[in-house]
Amino acid sequence: MSFTLAIVGRPNVGKSTLFNRLVGRKLALVDDQPGVTRDLREGEGRIGPVRFTVIDTAGLEEVTDASLPGRMRALTERAVDSADVCLFLIDARVGVTPVDRTLAELLRKRAPRVILAANKAEGRAAEAGLIEAWELGLGEPLALSAEHGIGMDDLLRALEPIAAEFPDAAAIFEVDVGDEVDDNVDEEGGGAALPAGRPIQIAVVGRPNAGKSTLVNAILGEDRLLTGPEAGITRDAIAVTVDWMGTPFRIFDTAGMRKKAKVQAKLEKLSVSDGLRAVKFAEVVVVLLDVQVPFESQDLRIADLAEREGRAVVVAVNKWDLEEEKPQKLNELREAFGRLLPQLRGAPMVMVSALTGKGLDRLHTAIVKAYAVWNTRISTARLNRWLAAQTADHPPPAPAGRRIRLRYMTQVKTRPPTFVLFASIPDAVPEDYKRFLVNGLRRDFDMPGTPIRLYLRSGD
Ligand code: GDP
Ligand code: GDP
Repeated sequence: MSFTLAIVGRPNVGKSTLFNRLVGRKLALVDDQPGVTRDLREGEGRIGPVRFTVIDTAGLEEVTDASLPGRMRALTERAVDSADVCLFLIDARVGVTPVDRTLAELLRKRAPRVILAANKAEGRAAEAGLIEAWELGLGEPLALSAEHGIGMDDLLRALEPIAAEFPDAAAIFEVDVGDEVDDNVDEEGGGAALPAGRPIQIAVVGRPNAGKSTLVNAILGEDRLLTGPEAGITRDAIAVTVDWMGTPFRIFDTAGMRKKAKVQAKLEKLSVSDGLRAVKFAEVVVVLLDVQVPFESQDLRIADLAEREGRAVVVAVNKWDLEEEKPQKLNELREAFGRLLPQLRGAPMVMVSALTGKGLDRLHTAIVKAYAVWNTRISTARLNRWLAAQTADHPPPAPAGRRIRLRYMTQVKTRPPTFVLFASIPDAVPEDYKRFLVNGLRRDFDMPGTPIRLYLRSGD
């Protein structure tokens, strides 16, 4: 017997979308009583190696206040009672609503295990909602995008300990590392296998001709042409999974990857939005510069976007083989980097030649390190010892004579590292003091190059 997972949440948070992703094609409609449009749906779900029964309460009417109408309550209770674990979805873009609070209360009382997830978490608009989700008192929220298949690896990790209690939940699966073009990302999050060592999701972005396809092909190890621009137009993304120097990577498409494909003209139009989309899917963004035209405005825009989206960034300067004055050029590049991309201070910059393969080992190391830094988790105890030392040396200013007390700090999420600082008058904490704290965190906890978020909240 495997376990049963119930997807619960108010209407429109994405339950059906997630259900369909987990169940894939083998969708079954059950319990479809006459007179009721849709009731509990049930199907066989799979994520990575874990198999389970999934039930979903989708199809309920929207409610506007905190009181759950009878039908919604009854159905949710029934789902909760039949499930071993509840996956509680909120909409990260909307944040926590009164109905969410009521459902959270119900789950806290009634459900044996609850996993909290903030759906629609692709992109920056979701950040505040994700942090709000902590208020529900159900632990760390997962950031998911049911529609785009983001966060399925985190969901898998959350389900693994539960699967371990149900011996039949784990199925044998094949690792798809080194496969052909994976052109069905749509089903990937749910149905398809995730390798045992989770792939690091990367995107290679940069101007046309920077050498993106050459680099991706070098990583893939052969001159494999990735075809199928139609795929890119109709689907969210294409990706290829590969084992590169012993590490599994999933590389998301950019126009560059598909430039040799059939519909050349359309690709030109696609290139910018494509790069932007690849950034949303990626965990680590490799900004590929051409040493002959480095730090062009397009490069700067996409690097800035990657930072704002909270991705780890590695800057790679390509065509280094063409450079004759290497030491001098290196100095110039460092200076330009610091001046033009101050928001990425400390991010690694690696010189490579995609054509000759030189420097690719260093690029690999930089990506793996950036990914690790992006995943940094600091205990609350360490953070507060650190905060006490910082504020002793360098207390916050007292604007207009009002003393700001900094009470307590906690890391609310990783990827990128995100912290909440509780202060007596949060609005009075000046930007430069926040920057001082962020720089201190970066320095003292060894987090170079990764975006760090710091939010202030009021607290006593
Ligand atoms: P349900 O009522 O909870 O079952 O929600 P649905 O699955 O029907 O989704 C409600 C709406 O949210 C639909 O328009 C979906 O396409 C959309 N949606 C679902 N998941 C996501 C997501 O991850 N991101 C975004 N942006 N929209 C999503
Ligand atoms: P994309 O548009 O970013 O995908 O760029 P391509 O990979 O198609 O490369 C554009 C041009 O730059 C091609 O002529 C490549 O052969 C050349 N190129 C790519 N990488 C290097 C490199 O490391 N050194 C040199 N000398 N040329 C390169």
